[in-house]
Amino acid sequence: MPTCRHCYGVYKRDQFIHGNGPRAQVCVRCGVEKGLVSEEEVASFYTPSVANARFSALARRWSPLMWLSIIWVSWIVFLKDVKPWGLYTLIVLGLFTLIVPVYMLLVSSKHMAAMARLTPDYERPKGH
Ligand SMILES: [Zn+2]
Repeated sequence: MPTCRHCYGVYKRDQFIHGNGPRAQVCVRCGVEKGLVSEEEVASFYTPSVANARFSALARRWSPLMWLSIIWVSWIVFLKDVKPWGLYTLIVLGLFTLIVPVYMLLVSSKHMAAMARLTPDYERPKGH
């Protein structure tokens, strides 16, 4: 994968602008920031709103695991030695631990659809 000569970022070929001279080996973000191309010219540019939407989709995708680990840690710290609630909450927590991977598997296609919707359309021109 090529390297941008301004930010030294390594991206896929479709994340680079086309042209010679000052436009050679420049990624779309640097191209837009340095005024070499406009946002409308580069179809593969992730606008800040698209980037934020992708980030929140990722956060939604992985938040069940984060909550599960937080609840496990708080159970170990606070509830482990409390009788009888330590045992009851352990059973509930065990059930949730079994359910969460199944739930994440079921919503994975929804997440992939959201990410596909939030990926800018780009058709590679002939010869690139
Ligand atoms: Zn760059």
